[in-house]
Amino acid sequence: MSPPPTLDDARRVLAEVFGYAGFRGPQEAVVSHVLGGGSGLVLMPTGGGKSLCYQVPALCRSGTAVVISPLIALMDDQVEALAQLGVRAAALHSGRPDGGEAWRRLQEGGLDLLYISPERLLAGELLALLGRLPLALFAIDEAHCVSQWGHDFRPEYRQLNVLAERWPEVPRLALTATADRRTQGDIIERLRLPAGAVFHVSFDRPNLRYLVREKQDARRQLLAFLEEHKGEAGIVYARSRDRVEGLAALLQGAGHPAEVYHAGLDPARRRRVLQRFRREADLIVVATIAFGMGIDKPDVRFVAHVDLPRSLEAYYQETGRAGRDGLPAVVWMVHGPGDVPQLRRFIEQSQAPEDQKRIERSKLEALLAFTEARDCRRRRLLAAFDEVLPEPCGNCDLCLEPAAEGTDVTLVARKALSTVVRTGARFGAVHLIDVLLGSDTARVRERGHDQLSVYGIGHELDRGQWRSLFRQLQSEGLLGSDPGGGGGLVLGDPERVRPLLRGETTLTLRLPPPAAERRRSTAAGSTTDRGAPVLEGEARDRFEILRAWRRQEAQGQGVPPYVVFHDRTLLDLAADPPADLQALARVPGVGRAKLERYGEALLMVLRDATRD
Ligand code: ADP
Ligand code: ZN
Repeated sequence: MSPPPTLDDARRVLAEVFGYAGFRGPQEAVVSHVLGGGSGLVLMPTGGGKSLCYQVPALCRSGTAVVISPLIALMDDQVEALAQLGVRAAALHSGRPDGGEAWRRLQEGGLDLLYISPERLLAGELLALLGRLPLALFAIDEAHCVSQWGHDFRPEYRQLNVLAERWPEVPRLALTATADRRTQGDIIERLRLPAGAVFHVSFDRPNLRYLVREKQDARRQLLAFLEEHKGEAGIVYARSRDRVEGLAALLQGAGHPAEVYHAGLDPARRRRVLQRFRREADLIVVATIAFGMGIDKPDVRFVAHVDLPRSLEAYYQETGRAGRDGLPAVVWMVHGPGDVPQLRRFIEQSQAPEDQKRIERSKLEALLAFTEARDCRRRRLLAAFDEVLPEPCGNCDLCLEPAAEGTDVTLVARKALSTVVRTGARFGAVHLIDVLLGSDTARVRERGHDQLSVYGIGHELDRGQWRSLFRQLQSEGLLGSDPGGGGGLVLGDPERVRPLLRGETTLTLRLPPPAAERRRSTAAGSTTDRGAPVLEGEARDRFEILRAWRRQEAQGQGVPPYVVFHDRTLLDLAADPPADLQALARVPGVGRAKLERYGEALLMVLRDATRD
């Protein structure tokens, strides 16, 4: 018998296979616990790095690791990502055509990881086969599905107690990103986990910026919000199918690539949308709040709610799909008093038993307290998970925009409008702000916008303040979207624009404080109002070039771009381009297999990008 694997073995796997220099947060404690044969519960926010908690031990311990997940798209993602790393993984679920192949590899002991839906696992035949194979561990992902108290209960999950009965000696690792105390208790009891082995980090997602707005004209507000997120992937949640369809049409009309996603679509169409969302870096999916997306896309840059979600847990879960890669992302919601009666009706008219309804009612109250909070959104949200945030977060609307008197923005508003006019009314806010701030970007140079009189005249505001100004000019009707669908900003209502440009009226708005005052460093570095990664000038151009290379590479292989490399890795490469393979190997996210596969090509792309 070979000696049991040690933490050093685990670190080697982490570095060589995954390309990471060290464990993060509780990962090391979890891995060490599982290597020693222990079972436990891992509570970590989305993007916290749960997968490595079982993937690393899976590669260290002998036998196959069985990962149980209810989310088919997520399983497929993980299998593809692992294949890129040279790991032997397969998935077994209803939507998988190569089931026979996975089955064969499993029997031959040729799999390090098997991803499987609970239905397939419990179907009998497979349980018997697994009984004859050496097993490294069981990972139960989305473990909150075990609990009726959790918001996503799945009856099949209740039968997973069979794991402890049949395989008392195989470690069981339950993982979730949403569980209050009660749900945690249910998971521990149901899966027979030792009560002391709970690995808990805060559910806080510091890279998410929470913005909650009063609903005035949801459609116009949404368009103004999306204007700041051009070229980014995101999700818009709305309550009903009709509304989802209407909003998607609105977005398409305004030049945004958008798709709908709800339970009424046929499965083939749903699969297509999911596929597109995974493969394209700038698609917006408009979905019903009741529908789980089950997707592992790391580069979702925003989540917008135009209707209230059903509970704070649901809100946390839905917004949690943003920024899994740890980079800044924005979650945005508009709500109004009109939303509440509908939600109450929803509860009262449901077929659920009375005590379930009581739970739902108390959850609705917690949600309303969140929307009405006056101190800090994050504090309220974490309170729902029995967590206390001692200081206000500095990264939500309440922290960033303390109720203040408006300021006279007449002059800067005139500069903004002039810049729209001088550049031909064809550009979005990002470029217009580049011009105002005198940024040296490729687009500015190509268009000769550094020759305009408005170039560099806007230094009294910073980028975040300009964004806020542009957004507010839009909701004031002083700016509008290009009716031709080109996606640029155009002048709005002439009756309002003209007097302002002529100096006959003044304009008062509330601007956020300058970035220097509100900056809060997060794990991912500093944030901007837009929530997008911070890169300027040449580095930003390089990032775009790398993204284009990745898109081609992914298309050629028929995999999502983030399976090739995460944004985080591309950002690091763009900010500080490595000169040779050795330096490239040190960039986080570049493991052995990816170095071999993409190393030369990447260096060439970077050299070309730096030359001109
Ligand atoms: P979760 O499943 O908890 O949502 P993931 O396992 O998908 O999170 O990890 C989120 C991101 O963090 C991924 O891009 C992953 O590669 C990265 N990551 C996880 N652990 C580490 C680590 N120790 N070092 C660097 N990056 C990590
Ligand atoms: Zn806050």
